Amino acid sequence: MSGLIGLTAAELATKLASGEVSSVEATRAHLDRIAEVDAEVHAFLHVSDHALEVAADIDRRRAAGEALGVLAGVPLAIKDVLVTTDMPSTSGSRILEGYLSPFDATVVARSRAAGLVPLGNTNMDEFAMGSSTEHSAYGPTHNPWDLDRIPGGSGGGSAAAVAAFEAPLALGSDTGGSIRQPAHVTGTVGVKPTYGAVSRYGAIALASSLDQIGPVTRTVLDAGLLHDVIGGHDHNDSTSLTDLWPSFAEAAREGATGDVLKGLRIGVVRQLPDSGFQPGVSASFHAALAEMAAHGAEIVEVDAPHFEYGVAAYYLILPAEASSNLAKFDSVRFGMRVPVDGTVEDVMSATRDAGFGPEVKRRIILGTYALSAGYYDAYYGSAQKVRTLIQRDFDAAFAQVDVIATPTAPTTAFRLGEKIDDPLQMYLNDVTTIPANLAGVPGISIPSGLSADDALPVGIQFLAPVREDARLYRVGAALEALLVDSWGAPLLAKAPVLGGTR
Ligand code: GLN
Repeated sequence: MSGLIGLTAAELATKLASGEVSSVEATRAHLDRIAEVDAEVHAFLHVSDHALEVAADIDRRRAAGEALGVLAGVPLAIKDVLVTTDMPSTSGSRILEGYLSPFDATVVARSRAAGLVPLGNTNMDEFAMGSSTEHSAYGPTHNPWDLDRIPGGSGGGSAAAVAAFEAPLALGSDTGGSIRQPAHVTGTVGVKPTYGAVSRYGAIALASSLDQIGPVTRTVLDAGLLHDVIGGHDHNDSTSLTDLWPSFAEAAREGATGDVLKGLRIGVVRQLPDSGFQPGVSASFHAALAEMAAHGAEIVEVDAPHFEYGVAAYYLILPAEASSNLAKFDSVRFGMRVPVDGTVEDVMSATRDAGFGPEVKRRIILGTYALSAGYYDAYYGSAQKVRTLIQRDFDAAFAQVDVIATPTAPTTAFRLGEKIDDPLQMYLNDVTTIPANLAGVPGISIPSGLSADDALPVGIQFLAPVREDARLYRVGAALEALLVDSWGAPLLAKAPVLGGTR
């Protein structure tokens, strides 16, 4: 097998631009890798039949002297929540089995326009509900670090594809942590942009006020490069910000020089004590902070007294919005239909019964209840108030510090099956990621090392004020440079070698 799959997207892009490597070669190497390891990892739900054709077209255009985007010719994996015209999009659900969209999601259209080569669709928890990818209707994805463990969720497929070197880049969606938590457990980088910074048009909605699309990669620079492609205003998304964004790749490059750490004020949340985290996760977090402090950062305790109510508020707001968004799967407009005898309601009910899995049903029932007359104020209304209090916590904290840092999740990758029957335990995984979605602020997770207690990857999360995504790329790249230096190689070099090669 070629060494092409071990390259970062930035490295691959340089080789493509210089003509040292063709996109067909790079794409074939990744398709071969998928053929080699995906039976074990199950990161992909669908592998594109067109990838080599698209790659050949890029090669032709390059040979003809056409000006191409920086990432032209680089393969890309796409979370199954994003609709594409040439591959089925199911959002991990039976109810959408085989569904072909008449249009591309904006992030997919922009990726194609930039010359990226879609490799396939990645596995996910059904309708992005979950933290382990075990709620996929098509079977779980396995963590490349330990195939008996979860790759995180809901975007476990995208994270596992990148961690297993099946794709250099992937797209994910993050409603409560589904980009950042999978990054944490797989030793990859995940970014949830500011709400409205990346278009949600063509992302199958889970909870529209929380959903955000973002990059899943192996380096901060690669995330910046992909963010530059997919971000920016989209008139098809009414919540899309009209800001002109700086280059996030440039921010990552600036950050890698390390100067950004001098005088940087990093907030640590007093209300997230070490006792809530696996000891190895805490230890890795504090070691990363110490490294940053040694290079001039100042660590400041900040108060965020309402963070602890984030999970409770989220698990009312999300089901409420989801129950409304998922009402469109009615057996008439989209996907599957179970043709029982009876009324249209009977058909609808039989279809939804057969098409939705247990977690989706649980949340639809919860959300419908929370929105029902008589309970609306007590549940949904209260949750929205908590949301405001969390936004105020962020405002107060960011008056004192430049970024907030937390461990990305409480534990390392748990075993497949361990939490699947205990929804509450599953929900508690999101304690540190959810506040960012409730407040709309951007977040990044980068690998901070291996946990001393189980030698599995740990991620550190940085959060910045709304619109300050570039700050996260600078800070993330600065820490990444220090850590990779001390490890001697990216963290993923320590992962078990799947398929006998890398
Ligand atoms: N684990 C969270 C949930 O189950 C996150 C989902 C997401 O970000 N899509 O809702």
